[in-house]
Amino acid sequence: MEEEITIDKLKTYFRTKAGYVRAVDDFSMSVKKGQIMGLAGESGSGKSTVVTTIFRVLPINGEVKGGKITFEEKDILSMDEKKFKEEIRWKKISWIPQVSMDSLDPLYTVKNQMMETILTHEDVSKAEAAERSYQALESVKLNPEIAEKYPHELSGGQKQRVIIAMALLLNPRLVIADEPTTALDVVTQASIVDLLTRKKKEMGFSMIFVTHDLSLLATMADAVTVMYAGQLAETGTAETLFKSPEHPYTKLLLKSIPDIRKWKERKLYSIPGEPPNLENPPSGCRFRTRCPFAMEICKDKVPEPVTLKGGHVVACHLVGDKK
Ligand code: ATP
Ligand code: SF4
Ligand code: MG
Repeated sequence: MEEEITIDKLKTYFRTKAGYVRAVDDFSMSVKKGQIMGLAGESGSGKSTVVTTIFRVLPINGEVKGGKITFEEKDILSMDEKKFKEEIRWKKISWIPQVSMDSLDPLYTVKNQMMETILTHEDVSKAEAAERSYQALESVKLNPEIAEKYPHELSGGQKQRVIIAMALLLNPRLVIADEPTTALDVVTQASIVDLLTRKKKEMGFSMIFVTHDLSLLATMADAVTVMYAGQLAETGTAETLFKSPEHPYTKLLLKSIPDIRKWKERKLYSIPGEPPNLENPPSGCRFRTRCPFAMEICKDKVPEPVTLKGGHVVACHLVGDKK
């Protein structure tokens, strides 16, 4: 299968008074066409920074210090902003931001916001833009009456559906959803996941689905990438990651998922210790301060990602000789 997007040794740092926060540091990942790639890791591991780097909407103190992101055979990081805005952002790559509940403009009705998105990117009449807005709402199972409402008149689930409809308006090739269900109750969460997977099947886009909850990915993702402290821990097909994980961090994350069948005998496990400070991360493997298998080499040498069978990639000294 061909790659939709490839991230290669990306470094994105944030400037602060105390120095640089190395939020994403030599991180690589690729998503195949038509695939749902789950991007997982604890809070602060750099997931949203990867996303805002791809979409080129980094906060003002963010700087890309190295690496490439290839989409349609071009490095989108070195592309001229005007070209990126005209050809890629929203049209080919769209974004459902992490704080998306607030991402609708409170001053405009749903219809006006949707029409605006179409009219700024395409040369169509107002009537056509309005018609497409109604169709888009219908396609995410919203009543057309919603079009005339303001964001504060909608429930959390309705808002998230409008945001998804807007992200899909221009028929993108890649949709990046950053924790799209976190602010919702469990039932609404499930309906949003269903909606995204159904639209993905209908429209054939690829998706990066960001979450700190690995268990959510078990049912929906084709592949999973696990980040730790700004770096790749492990990536591979969902089956490989869930059935035969190799990285100690992935194993511990999986252990922390409650098993419904055994919930009476089992307490929820949480990984001891805290993720490191990214202004001054530990030498060698960044996970070594919490890893039960840490060895001498883990202090001295950063583990290079090693490719095992079937595109399974693991960055850990333990797997170096399994290749
Ligand atoms: P979460 O699951 O909580 O959303 P995340 O994996 O998305 O976390 P990021 O938001 O990408 O993590 O943050 C990665 C690191 O960069 C964290 O240490 C965070 O504190 C830091 N960071 C993020 N934005 C900034 C900023 N604008 N300035 C300084 N540091 C930042
Ligand atoms: Fe643990 Fe060492 Fe592997 Fe890091 S490289 S995960 S410290 S064994
Ligand atoms: Mg985030």
